[in-house]
Amino acid sequence: MIITAVEVVRVRVPAYDPPFVWRAGLPGSEPEADGAWLVIRTDAGVTGLAFALRGAMLQDVVDRRIRAELLGRDPVAREYLWDRIWELDRIDRFPIFVQGVVDVALWDLAGKAVGLPVYQLLGSFRESLPAYASTVTFGSIEEYLDVADQCLELGFPAIKLHAWGDAHKDARLAEALREHVGPDIPLMYDGSAGFDLLDATYLGKALSAADYLWYEEPMREFSVTAYKRLAERVDVPLIVAEVAEGAHMKTADFIAAGCAAAVRTSTGLRGGFTGAMRTAHLADAFLLRAEVHGPGVANRHLCMSISNTTYYESLIDSNPVRRPAEVDASGNVHAPTLAGVGFEEAWVDGPPPALAAALAA
Ligand SMILES: [Mg+2]
Repeated sequence: MIITAVEVVRVRVPAYDPPFVWRAGLPGSEPEADGAWLVIRTDAGVTGLAFALRGAMLQDVVDRRIRAELLGRDPVAREYLWDRIWELDRIDRFPIFVQGVVDVALWDLAGKAVGLPVYQLLGSFRESLPAYASTVTFGSIEEYLDVADQCLELGFPAIKLHAWGDAHKDARLAEALREHVGPDIPLMYDGSAGFDLLDATYLGKALSAADYLWYEEPMREFSVTAYKRLAERVDVPLIVAEVAEGAHMKTADFIAAGCAAAVRTSTGLRGGFTGAMRTAHLADAFLLRAEVHGPGVANRHLCMSISNTTYYESLIDSNPVRRPAEVDASGNVHAPTLAGVGFEEAWVDGPPPALAAALAA
């Protein structure tokens, strides 16, 4: 099988409805966006797809570098092509999602070629997994407690906070939530890199006292040393290396420094399925969990294939809370069923029009 065409199909992505916010200093939900599908075609008539929210960026790197690299190659040579994209990255400094988009499309293609969902190609470990409720940022402690009640009522077994990015206010919220839900509900906190070491330490001590399951990304992941020092000062388990570039290779440095109680992995920020599984296996070698960052069908495959993972991240983006379609009334997500990644499962009326036109051409 040979790759015969590599196309970028630009699509308009509607604004998030209703919009939501993250911590102070960060943009909130996306307004109407310029997204794109990467379409990889072969001489066997099998086509692989992957989606990127930054259409202009993807178009640029595909037109200048990636198409020429892929054309004429065997699409199942994923390890080789994963390596090649890193080589090109040395000169181009690709946005971190680019490696993942190419790899996801190649896995989609491989799954479609043999008629199997990607998680079965990776090797399945389970067929369902609990989802935790991962909140956006709400207005007050009272609103968070109300949202938490709704999440538990809807079946979610665990809750992760994305809060305001103020160490003292966030600490009071974390304490109030623990008090509210009692000792038996697993709680996590995600700082979206809002703090320096001093504030991260203050908040981490509050999370330790409130028995949080994990403390995620309180600081930018530029300094492994800062995380090492934080780990020396707080008892709450740190889950690290969600956003740091370099896939499993950078994750290894966090583990070697002794600051990783667990690590993050994802198709989006770890170089597709290939990089996400390398990261999971690296963590497994140290008996660490590799928890999957972010919702979506591609990450659902990872949840079914990574032995050392315990939750799917389900975004709670509104109040009243709506339970995403992929989460059942018991708070579980299930293995995707379509061949490949199965982006098609979300298309009630068929593919987006621009993609439908491109696929028909
Ligand atoms: Mg996170």
